[in-house]
Amino acid sequence: MTEYKTRQQKQRFYKSGPWRKLRLVALERDNYECQQCKKKGKFSKGQNVHHIKEIYHHSKLALELDNLETLCINCHNEEHKRTFNNIGTKKGRKVWRDERW
Ligand SMILES: [Zn+2]
Ligand SMILES: [Zn+2]
Repeated sequence: MTEYKTRQQKQRFYKSGPWRKLRLVALERDNYECQQCKKKGKFSKGQNVHHIKEIYHHSKLALELDNLETLCINCHNEEHKRTFNNIGTKKGRKVWRDERW
């Protein structure tokens, strides 16, 4: 089974052809609109495709369209804040380990 636990595994995934195609499908489906802002009645353009269930824990859902949503950068940061504490530090600075989330 494919897993996305390490940086290399995730990097490979985010560079893969199937993912690149699928994220475009997700963006088209959502009309490049941030789905979180939409829920709040706001309109924001979004270019970030987020895994609703993280592939770290749900590797089977990595290429599942239903598990993807388009987010703007603000909402995407917001979504990942809860995991921010798990991120390693490098010379005292917080470093984002995921490539493109
Ligand atoms: Zn948003
Ligand atoms: Zn994300």
